[in-house]
Amino acid sequence: MDLLWKKEADGSYIDIFGRSTGNSNLFSKLFSGLQLAPAKNNTKSTEFRQNGNDQKAKERWYHAMRFYNESLSYAENGSPNVSLAYANRSLCFLKMEMYDKCITDINFAIKANYPKEKRFKLDERRAYCLERINNEVEILAPAFDFDANENYVGFSNVLDIKFNEKFGRHVVAKCDIAIGKTVLIEEAFGPAQLMDAGQCVVCNTCYKNTMNFIPCEKCPNTLFCNQTCIDNNKFHKFVCGEVPPPLTSSVMYDMTSVLFAIDIFQNVDSLIQFVESVINDKSKTKVVPSAIGDMKSKYRIFLQLNLLGNAMKRGISLARARNVYEKLMGYPTIKTMFSTKAKKRFFIHLCVLHVSIVLSNLFNTNTISGTYLLRSFFNHSCAPNVLFYHYENKCIGITSRLIRKGEQLFMIYNPTCWSTPLNKQPMARIEYEFQCDCEKCKSTNWPNSSKRIKSDPDIQYIESFMSEANGPIDDFSHHQNYLNIQQRCINVLNKYGNLPWTTELNMVSRNFELILSQACLFSPINFGNLRSRTENKE
Ligand SMILES: [Zn+2]
Ligand SMILES: [Zn+2]
Ligand SMILES: [Zn+2]
Repeated sequence: MDLLWKKEADGSYIDIFGRSTGNSNLFSKLFSGLQLAPAKNNTKSTEFRQNGNDQKAKERWYHAMRFYNESLSYAENGSPNVSLAYANRSLCFLKMEMYDKCITDINFAIKANYPKEKRFKLDERRAYCLERINNEVEILAPAFDFDANENYVGFSNVLDIKFNEKFGRHVVAKCDIAIGKTVLIEEAFGPAQLMDAGQCVVCNTCYKNTMNFIPCEKCPNTLFCNQTCIDNNKFHKFVCGEVPPPLTSSVMYDMTSVLFAIDIFQNVDSLIQFVESVINDKSKTKVVPSAIGDMKSKYRIFLQLNLLGNAMKRGISLARARNVYEKLMGYPTIKTMFSTKAKKRFFIHLCVLHVSIVLSNLFNTNTISGTYLLRSFFNHSCAPNVLFYHYENKCIGITSRLIRKGEQLFMIYNPTCWSTPLNKQPMARIEYEFQCDCEKCKSTNWPNSSKRIKSDPDIQYIESFMSEANGPIDDFSHHQNYLNIQQRCINVLNKYGNLPWTTELNMVSRNFELILSQACLFSPINFGNLRSRTENKE
C-alpha cells in the first residue's frame, strides 16, 4: 500500500493500477473459468423445487422454504414454476405457524395461475389458517435490555468508548452489566447480500428474513419483500439484469461499499474533501469519536479501520480494486461523476482503499457481507465476556459473563481461539498480529472444574444436544428445541460465568454463540422471542 494516496507532479494521484506489477486481470481470469449462474431458468428452478420437496419430506420447513425461494427466483416469468413455488412456500409458512404469511402466499399462487384442478388444496390450506390465525407464532426482533446510547447509535447506554496506549480504542462498561443482556444492536455499514446459490433467504433491500418474497423480474437469486423494497433499493439497479451476473459476493460487497460511500455526499468534490481530511488526520485512531450515528461519522470510522498488511493481501487488493473500478466506471452515472483525470485518479485510490478495508474487516454472515463499525472497537480475548450473532443486517452483542463498571468488553475474533491454549498458534496471533494475554492464553492449563460443574444437568444437556449426529443445530423449525437449549446456556452462564475460566464455560460460551447465530439462519425465532416468553410467564 506504499503507493496509496501518492501524488504526481501535477497534483493528481498516481495511476496505481498502471504501476502495479501484479496481474491486473487476475480476477477476470479467475472468474472466466467459473460457471456463473444463468438468468431466469426453469430447469434450475425445478431442481431447486425438488430440493425443497426433499426437505419437506423430512419436515425441515425452514430449509424447504429456502429452496422454494431459490426456485421462485429462477422461475421464468409467467411460467407454472412461479405459482408452484408460492404454493409450496405457503405450506412451509403453515407448518411454521405463520398463518398470515401462508394466506398471502396462497393468494400469490392463485394470481400466478396455480392449476385450477389442484386449487382445492389451497382452499383447504386457507381454511386451516383462518381457524388458527389468532395463534400465530409472533416474531420479535432482538431488543436492547437497556436504553439506547445517545452518542453511539447501536450501543446501549451501558457501553462507552475509551482510549489508552495499551488497548487503543476499546469498549468499557459504564455500570455493572449482568449476564445475558443485549448491549449492542448494530446495522452493517454498506451491506451486500451474498449472491451464491442457495443463499436466497433475505430481502435484497432490507435483509428481512422469512417474508412473502417476490422475485426481481430480471435477476435470479434476488428477492424483495414487496414493491416498496424494490423501489427503495439504491444499489440493485447498478447490477440488475446483467447476464451472466457479474458478481461473486466479494466483488458485490466491494462495489456496494464504494456506492454506499458515494451516496453519502452531495457531489464528488465533497466526497474528495471528506476522504482527504480523514486520511491526512494523523491522530485519527487515538481520538475517541464524540458521536457515531449519521452516515458521515460512520464513514469516518470505516476509513479508519485497520488494514491487515501482508504482501498477498496487497496483491489481491490491487487486483480486486481494479476489477471494481473498471466495473463501476462502466456505469454511465459513475463515469459522469469521475470525468476529469484528477477525479478518476482519486477514484482509483478510493477503490483500492475500500477493497483493502473490506479484505481486512469484512464480516460474512451466511446471508450478507458487511462491516460493523462499533463492533470493530471491541478487543479480542480467547475468554470473551460478550458474544456476537447476526440477525437480518444487524450484529447483536450479548453479555456472557458479569462485567463490572469500568471493565473492558472483549469478543472472540476467530472461532479457532475457542481452543486456545490447546491450539498452539491461535489465529489471533497469526492473522491479527498481536500477542493475546487473556486469562486463557496466560495459563498453561485451565483450572480443574469442580465435580459440581462437571455433573451439572444443564451442562450435560448442552453437551449431548450439540454432539448429536445431524443434531437439531441445523434446523430449529421446532421452536421448543431452540428455546430449551438457549435457556440452558443462560442458566450455565449465570451459574458459572463469574468463576475463573473452565473447560465447561468454554464449551457453553462457544456453543451459545453458535446456537444464537445458527438460530437466526434456520429459524424465524430469535432471542427476543425467548425473552418475551419468559417474561410473560413471570
Ligand atoms: Zn425488504
Ligand atoms: Zn434485478
Ligand atoms: Zn487469548
